[in-house]
Amino acid sequence: MQCCRCGVELTDENWPTYLRNRKGYKGRTYPEYICANCLSKRRLDWCNVNRKELNQYYRDRYPDHKDSYDSSRRKHEARLKLEVLTHYSTKSYPVCADLYHLHLPNDPFLTDIDSLSLDLIKGGHRRSGIPYGSVLYEKLKKEGYPKGWQVLCFNCQWKKRRINRELFEKNPTP
Ligand SMILES: [Zn+2]
Ligand SMILES: [Zn+2]
Repeated sequence: MQCCRCGVELTDENWPTYLRNRKGYKGRTYPEYICANCLSKRRLDWCNVNRKELNQYYRDRYPDHKDSYDSSRRKHEARLKLEVLTHYSTKSYPVCADLYHLHLPNDPFLTDIDSLSLDLIKGGHRRSGIPYGSVLYEKLKKEGYPKGWQVLCFNCQWKKRRINRELFEKNPTP
């Protein structure tokens, strides 16, 4: 048995049970020959085609489902931040790059996710028009994590800003 889209051999791993047991007329089963990979692609294609209607549907539902919408958005944003910050950290978990050796070994702010954020290494994030927060994380993930970013805690961000300003005042370049 092969997937009707990509032609891959259907196995227990790539062919979900509910697809091989699709119920049809008079309880007959109608297996759907599509692999899990192509299924999720087909769903995504459908969502993209119907994006406008979908967005409207969710907008209309929002007032009645505010709490669950908001909490799932917050969960999504927290997961996204964790993922992106982990990627730009020097370790396998989000950690401040500690450029100026301000942190003691067991400093909780070294790894506290709420204190950490992304920093544009060459500076000028504030003036560049590049977005912040979730919008930035979404963008970087979509672009395959381009280089030029590092993870800093708020203290180190301030320190960097101060040092850069002093350097700039000593040696202003056009
Ligand atoms: Zn397939
Ligand atoms: Zn720091």
